[in-house]
Amino acid sequence: MTAETQHSDRSPIDDTRIAEWQEALFSQTPKDILRFAHKQFDNIAISFSGAEDVVLIDLATKVSDRVQVFTLDTGRLHAETYRFIDQVRSHYDLDLEILSPDQSRLEQLTREKGLFSFYEDGHKECCGVRKVDSLKRKLPTVDAWITGQRKDQSPSTRAEVNVVEQDLVFGSDDNPLVKFNPLAHWSSQQVWEYIRMFDVPYNPLHEKGFVSIGCEPCTRPVLPGQHEREGRWWWEEATLKECGLHAPQQTNQTG
Ligand code: SF4
Repeated sequence: MTAETQHSDRSPIDDTRIAEWQEALFSQTPKDILRFAHKQFDNIAISFSGAEDVVLIDLATKVSDRVQVFTLDTGRLHAETYRFIDQVRSHYDLDLEILSPDQSRLEQLTREKGLFSFYEDGHKECCGVRKVDSLKRKLPTVDAWITGQRKDQSPSTRAEVNVVEQDLVFGSDDNPLVKFNPLAHWSSQQVWEYIRMFDVPYNPLHEKGFVSIGCEPCTRPVLPGQHEREGRWWWEEATLKECGLHAPQQTNQTG
């Protein structure tokens, strides 16, 4: 099989097919992977939050005229990030879907535990309400999604990321979901070379030492030589540093 093979019969995508796609796409460029993904799936969306995701949007707009993008507004982002999101929306003329947390669940959490419970008992609960619940609402409405995950973002949690995989966290037998990670094999340096080369918009916080940028209370700049994930949830163990969006596939957990 080649990367040009199409999923034209719309039959369920099983592990065998995913394995074939993994083999075919392994050494393809991110642009080719995005072209392939958009050929296979009419209803496919890019999840946008960080620098990698804007590279994906930039590439996707070069291979498809029906690029669908969503982002999660946790309510706790930096002011710079909100402006950046809107800049990306205008720059690419996106019909950007901005997903907010469920109001009643959020009010219950903040009433019971206040606004900074994650410093006391971990980020899982707050990320669950502010991010994962929104994804659980969005992902059943698509057949596949595209993320900016890279293997080298986190040796503890992302070393096994494939360019394409069955999403066992948000998908199910009844509602299968495919996840594409076109930048899985790219380094941070390659991402930033692309951003500079093609004048891709980026979050101005990157100029202040922030590398991996999430919510304001849970993100801090890193020093030269520090790994980018050390700037996220720094009070927790490295193996717990996922927000639930990309929990390890084999565990089928959202943490
Ligand atoms: S990153 Fe922090 S503030 Fe944002 S949802 Fe997770 S725990 Fe809450």
